[in-house]
Amino acid sequence: MDTEIIRIINKALDGGLLDKKEIMALLSVENLSPEAFAIQQAGRAFTSQLCGGEAEIHAHIGLDAAPCPNDCKFCSFAASNKIFRTHEVIPLEQVIAEAQAMEAAGANALYLVTTVHYGEEKFLETAQAVRAGLSTDVPLIANVPDFDEDYARELVRIGIAGVYHVVRLGEGVFTRCKVETRLKTMEAAKSAGLVLGNCIDPIGPEHTPEELADLILLARDFEVGFSGAMRRNTVPGTEFERYGNISYGRLATYAGATALATGPGIRGNCTHEPSQLCGQAGANIMWAERGTSPRDTATETTRGLSVDQVREIYFDTDWPVHEGPSQFYPPYSAR
Ligand code: SF4
Repeated sequence: MDTEIIRIINKALDGGLLDKKEIMALLSVENLSPEAFAIQQAGRAFTSQLCGGEAEIHAHIGLDAAPCPNDCKFCSFAASNKIFRTHEVIPLEQVIAEAQAMEAAGANALYLVTTVHYGEEKFLETAQAVRAGLSTDVPLIANVPDFDEDYARELVRIGIAGVYHVVRLGEGVFTRCKVETRLKTMEAAKSAGLVLGNCIDPIGPEHTPEELADLILLARDFEVGFSGAMRRNTVPGTEFERYGNISYGRLATYAGATALATGPGIRGNCTHEPSQLCGQAGANIMWAERGTSPRDTATETTRGLSVDQVREIYFDTDWPVHEGPSQFYPPYSAR
C-alpha cells in the first residue's frame, strides 16, 4: 500500500484539511487498487461519523422541459442538443401530488428543478403552492438558473430553505453560464441565508484530478451544506458521447475522496445517479426523481428512482435512513 496515500487518509480522518496536492493524490489512485478501496472505506467511515451514521433521500421534481438557452452541453435540455423542441410544463396539480407522495414516502428534502424558461415569478408561485400542500417540516429546495440577492430573499420569504447551485465542470466552455455569474448567485444565496447544496458534477472520464480538486476546494470555501461526486450520465446524441461515462467503481473512489477532502465542516456526501458502490464508499445523500430530468430524453423521467428504490440501495449498503426533515437544511418550522 502506498504510504503517502495512507498518510493523507489518516490526516483527513484526524480532521485535517487536505491541500490541493493531497486531494489530487487521492483522486489519482488506480481503479481497483488497495489504495482505491482504502479511500472508499475511509470516506464511508468519515461521513458516517459526521452524520450520526445516517443517510438521506432527497427528491428531485423537474418542473419543465425546454430547449434551454444556457445550453449546458451535458444536459438533455440544452438548446443545441435539439432533444426538446418546445416548452413543456408539468401541471401544478401533478407537481403538488408528486411532492406529497415523496414526502409521504419519507424523502428528507424536496427539490424543485427548472430550466431558464420556467421563469422566476412562476417558480415563486409554484413553490408556494407546493409548500402549502405539504404537511411536514420537510425542507423545500430550489434548483433554478442564476439569480440576484433580491430574488434569493424572495426565495427565503416563501419558505425555500436552500438552493442547489454549483460551478459545473466545464462551466463557461460547455455551458453559456459564466463562472463569475454562478459564483455571484452562490454568494447571493448565502447572503440571503439559503443553504448551498453542492456536488462535483457532472464528472466524465476526461476530467482531470486537478479539475475535480479545484471544485472541491471551491465547495470548501463556500462552506456548502453538503458536497459529493456525481457522474455525467451521458445523454445519447450529445458531444460527450465520445467520452461516455466513468464507471460507478471509479465514482465510488471519487465519493470517498470527496468525503475526505471536503473535511469535517462539510458533513453530507451526495452522489447521483443512486449507486450501491457509491453508498458503500460513503455517499449518504442520493436522489429520487420525478417529473423532468436533465439526464432523460423523455419529458417525464424514465431513469429516476422512487424514494423506496433509493431506500433499498441504502438497505443493501447498511445505511440507516434518517427520518424526518434533512439534517443538512433548516426544517420549515425553524424559519
Ligand atoms: S443544466 Fe439547467 S441551465 Fe443548463 S441547459 Fe440544462 S436546464 Fe438549462
